[in-house]
Amino acid sequence: MLKFAHKELVNWLRATDEVELRRLFSMADDVRRRHVGEAVHLRGLIEISSHCCRNCSYCGLRALRHITRYRMTREKILSCARKAVRLGFGTVVLQSGEDFALEAGWVADIVRTIKRETDLAVTLSLGERMSDELRLWRDAGADRYLLRFETSDADLYAKIHPSLPGRTSDRIAILRQLRDFGYEIGSGVMVGIPGQSYEILARDIETFRELDLDMVGIGPFLAHPDTPLGAPGSQNAGAEQVPNTEQMVLKTVALTRIMCPEANIPSTTALATVNPMRGRENGFQSGANVVMPNLTPSPYRQMYEIYPGKTCVDEEVEQCARCVRARITCVGREVGVGQGGRQHFEAMA
Ligand code: SAH
Ligand code: SF4
Repeated sequence: MLKFAHKELVNWLRATDEVELRRLFSMADDVRRRHVGEAVHLRGLIEISSHCCRNCSYCGLRALRHITRYRMTREKILSCARKAVRLGFGTVVLQSGEDFALEAGWVADIVRTIKRETDLAVTLSLGERMSDELRLWRDAGADRYLLRFETSDADLYAKIHPSLPGRTSDRIAILRQLRDFGYEIGSGVMVGIPGQSYEILARDIETFRELDLDMVGIGPFLAHPDTPLGAPGSQNAGAEQVPNTEQMVLKTVALTRIMCPEANIPSTTALATVNPMRGRENGFQSGANVVMPNLTPSPYRQMYEIYPGKTCVDEEVEQCARCVRARITCVGREVGVGQGGRQHFEAMA
Protein backbone atom coordinates (compact mmCIF):
# COMPACT_ATOMS: atom_id res chain seq x y z
CA MET A 1 0.00 0.00 0.00
CA LEU A 2 1.18 3.49 -0.93
CA LYS A 3 2.11 5.62 2.06
CA PHE A 4 4.03 8.88 2.23
CA ALA A 5 6.58 9.78 4.90
CA HIS A 6 6.29 13.19 6.59
CA LYS A 7 8.92 14.80 4.34
CA GLU A 8 7.19 13.56 1.19
CA LEU A 9 3.85 14.93 2.39
CA VAL A 10 5.44 18.34 2.96
CA ASN A 11 7.05 18.25 -0.49
CA TRP A 12 3.77 17.35 -2.17
CA LEU A 13 1.95 20.07 -0.26
CA ARG A 14 4.51 22.58 -1.56
CA ALA A 15 4.44 21.25 -5.13
CA THR A 16 3.10 23.56 -7.85
CA ASP A 17 4.33 21.90 -11.07
CA GLU A 18 1.19 21.10 -13.11
CA VAL A 19 2.57 17.84 -14.55
CA GLU A 20 3.63 16.58 -11.11
CA LEU A 21 0.27 17.51 -9.63
CA ARG A 22 -1.64 15.72 -12.40
CA ARG A 23 0.38 12.64 -11.40
CA LEU A 24 -0.63 13.08 -7.74
CA PHE A 25 -4.33 13.52 -8.55
CA SER A 26 -4.32 10.49 -10.79
CA MET A 27 -2.56 8.39 -8.09
CA ALA A 28 -5.29 9.43 -5.62
CA ASP A 29 -8.03 8.71 -8.17
CA ASP A 30 -6.59 5.25 -8.68
CA VAL A 31 -6.47 4.53 -4.91
CA ARG A 32 -10.07 5.80 -4.63
CA ARG A 33 -11.25 3.48 -7.43
CA ARG A 34 -9.53 0.42 -5.96
CA HIS A 35 -10.65 0.95 -2.37
CA VAL A 36 -14.09 2.61 -2.46
CA GLY A 37 -15.16 2.10 -6.07
CA GLU A 38 -17.00 4.37 -8.52
CA ALA A 39 -19.98 5.35 -6.33
CA VAL A 40 -20.38 8.90 -5.03
CA HIS A 41 -22.67 8.82 -1.99
CA LEU A 42 -25.24 11.54 -1.28
CA ARG A 43 -25.65 12.82 2.28
CA GLY A 44 -28.40 15.38 2.90
CA LEU A 45 -27.28 18.16 5.24
CA ILE A 46 -29.87 19.57 7.66
CA GLU A 47 -28.62 22.59 9.62
CA ILE A 48 -30.92 22.24 12.61
CA SER A 49 -29.79 25.20 14.75
CA SER A 50 -27.57 28.25 14.27
CA HIS A 51 -27.24 28.96 17.99
CA CYS A 52 -23.72 28.43 19.30
CA CYS A 53 -22.05 28.98 22.66
CA ARG A 54 -18.50 28.88 21.21
CA ASN A 55 -16.30 31.65 19.85
CA CYS A 56 -14.18 29.97 17.21
CA SER A 57 -12.26 32.81 15.62
CA TYR A 58 -12.97 31.63 12.06
CA CYS A 59 -16.71 31.03 12.15
CA GLY A 60 -19.67 33.25 11.32
CA LEU A 61 -21.88 31.53 13.90
CA ARG A 62 -19.61 32.41 16.85
CA ALA A 63 -21.53 33.44 19.97
CA LEU A 64 -20.24 37.00 20.09
CA ARG A 65 -21.86 37.91 16.76
CA HIS A 66 -25.24 39.59 17.03
CA ILE A 67 -27.17 37.81 14.32
CA THR A 68 -30.67 36.44 13.97
CA ARG A 69 -30.57 32.78 15.00
CA TYR A 70 -32.99 29.88 14.62
CA ARG A 71 -33.74 26.37 15.84
CA MET A 72 -35.74 24.06 13.58
CA THR A 73 -38.74 22.22 15.03
CA ARG A 74 -38.88 18.44 15.31
CA GLU A 75 -41.55 18.35 12.58
CA LYS A 76 -39.46 20.45 10.16
CA ILE A 77 -36.41 18.22 10.73
CA LEU A 78 -38.45 15.06 10.15
CA SER A 79 -39.98 16.52 7.03
CA CYS A 80 -36.44 17.20 5.68
CA ALA A 81 -35.46 13.60 6.46
CA ARG A 82 -38.50 12.37 4.49
CA LYS A 83 -37.44 14.56 1.62
CA ALA A 84 -33.98 12.96 1.75
CA VAL A 85 -35.66 9.58 1.21
CA ARG A 86 -37.72 10.92 -1.73
CA LEU A 87 -34.56 12.34 -3.32
CA GLY A 88 -32.79 8.98 -3.04
CA PHE A 89 -30.20 10.01 -0.43
CA GLY A 90 -28.79 7.31 1.87
CA THR A 91 -27.82 9.50 4.83
CA VAL A 92 -28.94 12.63 6.64
CA VAL A 93 -26.47 14.77 8.55
CA LEU A 94 -27.94 16.80 11.41
CA GLN A 95 -25.58 19.71 12.03
CA SER A 96 -25.71 22.75 14.31
CA GLY A 97 -23.71 25.20 16.36
CA GLU A 98 -22.83 23.97 19.83
CA ASP A 99 -26.33 24.55 21.18
CA PHE A 100 -27.05 23.06 24.59
CA ALA A 101 -30.70 24.10 24.24
CA LEU A 102 -30.92 21.20 21.78
CA GLU A 103 -31.80 18.98 24.68
CA ALA A 104 -30.23 15.51 24.54
CA GLY A 105 -33.54 13.63 24.93
CA TRP A 106 -35.13 15.74 22.18
CA VAL A 107 -32.27 14.92 19.77
CA ALA A 108 -32.45 11.23 20.75
CA ASP A 109 -36.18 11.15 19.94
CA ILE A 110 -35.56 12.65 16.49
CA VAL A 111 -32.78 10.12 15.78
CA ARG A 112 -35.02 7.25 16.93
CA THR A 113 -37.90 8.46 14.76
CA ILE A 114 -35.76 8.79 11.63
CA LYS A 115 -34.29 5.31 12.22
CA ARG A 116 -37.75 3.82 12.79
CA GLU A 117 -39.41 5.45 9.77
CA THR A 118 -36.62 5.26 7.18
CA ASP A 119 -33.55 3.30 6.08
CA LEU A 120 -31.36 6.39 6.34
CA ALA A 121 -28.03 6.42 8.11
CA VAL A 122 -28.00 9.27 10.65
CA THR A 123 -24.88 11.36 11.10
CA LEU A 124 -24.66 13.95 13.88
CA SER A 125 -22.44 17.03 13.89
CA LEU A 126 -23.55 18.96 16.96
CA GLY A 127 -20.19 20.01 18.43
CA GLU A 128 -18.50 18.99 21.68
CA ARG A 129 -21.39 17.55 23.65
CA MET A 130 -21.10 15.63 26.96
CA SER A 131 -20.14 11.97 26.81
CA ASP A 132 -23.45 10.77 28.30
CA GLU A 133 -25.27 12.69 25.54
CA LEU A 134 -23.08 11.18 22.82
CA ARG A 135 -23.75 7.74 24.24
CA LEU A 136 -27.51 8.36 24.47
CA TRP A 137 -27.62 9.35 20.78
CA ARG A 138 -25.64 6.29 19.77
CA ASP A 139 -28.08 4.12 21.73
CA ALA A 140 -30.94 5.91 19.94
CA GLY A 141 -29.46 4.68 16.63
CA ALA A 142 -27.13 7.45 15.40
CA ASP A 143 -24.57 5.86 13.08
CA ARG A 144 -21.87 8.48 12.64
CA TYR A 145 -20.47 11.66 14.22
CA LEU A 146 -18.58 14.48 12.52
CA LEU A 147 -16.22 16.64 14.56
CA ARG A 148 -13.35 18.31 12.74
CA PHE A 149 -10.26 18.70 14.93
CA GLU A 150 -9.45 21.79 12.77
CA THR A 151 -5.67 21.59 13.35
CA SER A 152 -3.30 19.10 14.97
CA ASP A 153 -1.12 21.95 16.28
CA ALA A 154 -1.92 22.58 19.95
CA ASP A 155 -0.87 26.27 19.94
CA LEU A 156 -2.80 27.11 16.78
CA TYR A 157 -5.82 25.17 18.09
CA ALA A 158 -5.83 27.13 21.35
CA LYS A 159 -5.69 30.38 19.37
CA ILE A 160 -8.50 29.68 16.93
CA HIS A 161 -10.77 27.50 19.05
CA PRO A 162 -10.98 28.89 22.60
CA SER A 163 -12.16 26.49 25.29
CA LEU A 164 -15.30 27.13 27.29
CA PRO A 165 -14.53 28.29 30.86
CA GLY A 166 -13.47 25.30 32.98
CA ARG A 167 -13.61 22.78 30.10
CA THR A 168 -10.49 22.24 28.02
CA SER A 169 -11.45 21.53 24.44
CA ASP A 170 -9.92 18.28 23.16
CA ARG A 171 -11.67 17.21 19.99
CA ILE A 172 -9.25 14.33 19.37
CA ALA A 173 -10.11 12.82 22.79
CA ILE A 174 -13.84 13.16 21.94
CA LEU A 175 -13.28 11.40 18.59
CA ARG A 176 -11.64 8.47 20.41
CA GLN A 177 -14.58 8.30 22.78
CA LEU A 178 -17.07 8.38 19.88
CA ARG A 179 -15.25 5.45 18.31
CA ASP A 180 -15.49 3.52 21.61
CA PHE A 181 -19.25 4.17 21.66
CA GLY A 182 -19.46 2.49 18.23
CA TYR A 183 -19.90 5.50 15.96
CA GLU A 184 -18.22 5.80 12.60
CA ILE A 185 -16.10 8.89 13.15
CA GLY A 186 -15.44 11.81 10.83
CA SER A 187 -13.09 14.71 11.26
CA GLY A 188 -11.12 17.13 9.15
CA VAL A 189 -9.51 20.54 8.84
CA MET A 190 -9.76 23.79 6.93
CA VAL A 191 -6.98 24.48 4.46
CA GLY A 192 -5.34 27.91 4.65
CA ILE A 193 -6.37 28.91 8.15
CA PRO A 194 -4.09 31.84 9.17
CA GLY A 195 -1.10 30.37 11.04
CA GLN A 196 -1.28 26.95 9.30
CA SER A 197 2.14 25.98 7.91
CA TYR A 198 2.96 23.15 5.47
CA GLU A 199 4.49 21.20 8.36
CA ILE A 200 1.27 21.51 10.38
CA LEU A 201 -0.95 20.48 7.44
CA ALA A 202 1.26 17.42 6.82
CA ARG A 203 0.83 16.46 10.50
CA ASP A 204 -2.94 16.94 10.14
CA ILE A 205 -2.96 14.35 7.34
CA GLU A 206 -0.83 11.97 9.42
CA THR A 207 -3.31 12.43 12.27
CA PHE A 208 -6.22 11.43 9.98
CA ARG A 209 -4.39 8.18 9.39
CA GLU A 210 -3.44 7.60 13.04
CA LEU A 211 -7.08 8.03 14.07
CA ASP A 212 -8.15 5.64 11.27
CA LEU A 213 -10.96 8.05 10.42
CA ASP A 214 -14.02 6.72 8.62
CA MET A 215 -14.72 10.13 7.10
CA VAL A 216 -12.48 13.13 6.40
CA GLY A 217 -13.87 16.55 5.44
CA ILE A 218 -11.47 19.06 3.92
CA GLY A 219 -12.37 22.51 2.64
CA PRO A 220 -10.70 25.87 2.19
CA PHE A 221 -10.80 28.41 5.03
CA LEU A 222 -13.14 31.14 3.78
CA ALA A 223 -12.63 34.43 5.59
CA HIS A 224 -15.73 35.84 7.26
CA PRO A 225 -15.18 39.62 7.56
CA ASP A 226 -17.08 39.80 10.85
CA THR A 227 -14.78 37.34 12.69
CA PRO A 228 -11.29 37.83 14.20
CA LEU A 229 -9.60 35.62 11.56
CA GLY A 230 -11.50 37.18 8.69
CA ALA A 231 -11.02 40.82 9.59
CA PRO A 232 -8.99 42.74 6.97
CA GLY A 233 -5.26 42.56 7.80
CA SER A 234 -5.51 39.35 9.86
CA GLN A 235 -4.21 37.17 7.01
CA ASN A 236 -0.67 35.91 7.46
CA ALA A 237 1.25 36.10 4.18
CA GLY A 238 4.54 34.48 5.30
CA ALA A 239 6.34 31.88 3.14
CA GLU A 240 5.26 29.05 5.45
CA GLN A 241 1.57 30.05 5.36
CA VAL A 242 -0.58 27.52 3.48
CA PRO A 243 -2.81 29.37 0.97
CA ASN A 244 -6.58 28.75 0.95
CA THR A 245 -6.68 28.04 -2.79
CA GLU A 246 -8.54 25.35 -4.71
CA GLN A 247 -5.26 23.72 -5.75
CA MET A 248 -4.11 23.51 -2.11
CA VAL A 249 -7.39 21.84 -1.11
CA LEU A 250 -7.17 19.36 -3.99
CA LYS A 251 -3.60 18.40 -2.99
CA THR A 252 -4.76 17.86 0.60
CA VAL A 253 -7.73 15.74 -0.55
CA ALA A 254 -5.49 13.65 -2.81
CA LEU A 255 -2.86 13.06 -0.09
CA THR A 256 -5.61 12.17 2.38
CA ARG A 257 -7.05 9.59 -0.03
CA ILE A 258 -3.60 8.02 -0.43
CA MET A 259 -2.97 7.97 3.33
CA CYS A 260 -6.54 6.87 4.27
CA PRO A 261 -7.58 4.69 1.31
CA GLU A 262 -10.89 3.43 2.78
CA ALA A 263 -12.18 6.73 4.15
CA ASN A 264 -15.30 8.47 2.88
CA ILE A 265 -14.12 11.87 1.67
CA PRO A 266 -16.59 14.56 0.57
CA SER A 267 -16.07 17.03 -2.22
CA THR A 268 -17.08 19.90 0.06
CA THR A 269 -19.40 22.86 -0.48
CA ALA A 270 -16.55 25.15 0.59
CA LEU A 271 -14.44 23.73 -2.27
CA ALA A 272 -17.36 24.32 -4.69
CA THR A 273 -17.57 27.88 -3.33
CA VAL A 274 -13.99 28.70 -4.43
CA ASN A 275 -14.66 27.19 -7.87
CA PRO A 276 -18.43 27.08 -8.55
CA MET A 277 -17.88 25.83 -12.13
CA ARG A 278 -15.77 22.75 -11.45
CA GLY A 279 -14.81 22.55 -7.78
CA ARG A 280 -17.07 19.57 -7.03
CA GLU A 281 -15.87 17.64 -10.08
CA ASN A 282 -12.22 18.42 -9.36
CA GLY A 283 -12.78 17.05 -5.85
CA PHE A 284 -14.31 13.82 -7.26
CA GLN A 285 -11.30 13.42 -9.54
CA SER A 286 -8.72 13.96 -6.77
CA GLY A 287 -9.91 11.33 -4.30
CA ALA A 288 -13.38 12.37 -3.07
CA ASN A 289 -16.34 9.94 -3.10
CA VAL A 290 -19.09 11.76 -1.18
CA VAL A 291 -21.19 14.89 -1.63
CA MET A 292 -23.44 16.62 0.92
CA PRO A 293 -26.26 18.57 -0.75
CA ASN A 294 -27.97 21.06 1.55
CA LEU A 295 -31.50 20.03 2.61
CA THR A 296 -32.01 22.94 5.02
CA PRO A 297 -35.12 24.89 4.04
CA SER A 298 -35.12 28.66 3.48
CA PRO A 299 -34.92 31.02 5.28
CA TYR A 300 -32.81 28.97 7.71
CA ARG A 301 -30.07 28.01 5.29
CA GLN A 302 -29.35 31.68 4.49
CA MET A 303 -29.06 32.29 8.25
CA TYR A 304 -26.55 29.45 8.78
CA GLU A 305 -23.71 31.61 7.54
CA ILE A 306 -20.51 29.91 8.70
CA TYR A 307 -18.72 31.75 5.88
CA PRO A 308 -20.08 34.21 3.32
CA GLY A 309 -20.79 33.54 -0.37
CA LYS A 310 -21.66 29.84 0.07
CA THR A 311 -22.43 28.37 -3.34
CA CYS A 312 -26.05 27.46 -4.25
CA VAL A 313 -27.43 28.94 -1.04
CA ASP A 314 -30.57 30.13 -2.87
CA GLU A 315 -31.14 26.97 -4.96
CA GLU A 316 -34.18 24.76 -4.33
CA VAL A 317 -33.27 21.41 -2.76
CA GLU A 318 -34.63 19.47 -5.76
CA GLN A 319 -32.55 21.58 -8.13
CA CYS A 320 -29.42 20.95 -5.98
CA ALA A 321 -30.04 17.21 -6.05
CA ARG A 322 -30.40 17.22 -9.86
CA CYS A 323 -27.28 19.33 -10.23
CA VAL A 324 -25.03 17.12 -8.06
CA ARG A 325 -26.28 13.98 -9.83
CA ALA A 326 -25.35 15.54 -13.17
CA ARG A 327 -21.93 16.54 -11.87
CA ILE A 328 -21.31 12.97 -10.65
CA THR A 329 -22.30 11.30 -13.92
CA CYS A 330 -20.54 13.81 -16.15
CA VAL A 331 -17.18 12.72 -14.68
CA GLY A 332 -18.07 9.07 -15.39
CA ARG A 333 -19.04 8.12 -11.82
CA GLU A 334 -22.15 6.47 -10.35
CA VAL A 335 -24.59 7.88 -7.82
CA GLY A 336 -24.28 5.70 -4.69
CA VAL A 337 -27.23 3.69 -3.46
CA GLY A 338 -27.76 2.75 0.19
CA GLN A 339 -26.09 4.21 3.25
CA GLY A 340 -22.53 4.23 1.91
CA GLY A 341 -20.80 3.55 5.23
CA ARG A 342 -17.13 2.77 5.73
CA GLN A 343 -16.09 -0.25 3.71
CA HIS A 344 -13.45 -2.55 5.10
CA PHE A 345 -12.09 -4.63 2.29
CA GLU A 346 -8.95 -5.43 0.43
CA ALA A 347 -8.27 -3.33 -2.64
CA MET A 348 -10.39 -4.29 -5.64
CA ALA A 349 -8.48 -5.87 -8.52
N1 SAH B 1 -20.55 23.40 15.48
C1 SAH B 1 -20.11 22.20 14.89
C2 SAH B 1 -20.57 21.99 13.47
C3 SAH B 1 -20.75 23.21 12.61
S1 SAH B 1 -19.27 23.99 12.09
C4 SAH B 1 -18.60 22.10 14.96
O1 SAH B 1 -17.94 23.12 15.16
O2 SAH B 1 -18.10 20.98 14.83
C5 SAH B 1 -18.72 22.87 10.84
C6 SAH B 1 -17.36 23.18 10.26
O3 SAH B 1 -17.39 24.36 9.49
C7 SAH B 1 -16.26 23.44 11.25
O4 SAH B 1 -15.75 22.23 11.76
C8 SAH B 1 -15.24 24.22 10.42
O5 SAH B 1 -14.20 23.36 9.95
C9 SAH B 1 -16.06 24.75 9.25
N2 SAH B 1 -15.95 26.21 9.18
C10 SAH B 1 -16.24 27.09 10.15
N3 SAH B 1 -15.92 28.36 9.76
C11 SAH B 1 -15.40 28.26 8.51
C12 SAH B 1 -14.86 29.20 7.58
N4 SAH B 1 -14.78 30.50 7.87
N5 SAH B 1 -14.41 28.73 6.39
C13 SAH B 1 -14.50 27.42 6.09
N6 SAH B 1 -14.99 26.48 6.93
C14 SAH B 1 -15.44 26.89 8.13
FE1 SF4 C 1 -19.83 27.16 16.82
FE2 SF4 C 1 -18.97 25.14 15.24
FE3 SF4 C 1 -18.85 27.73 14.44
FE4 SF4 C 1 -17.22 26.89 16.39
S1 SF4 C 1 -17.23 26.18 14.23
S2 SF4 C 1 -18.41 28.82 16.40
S3 SF4 C 1 -18.52 25.42 17.44
S4 SF4 C 1 -20.68 26.55 14.81
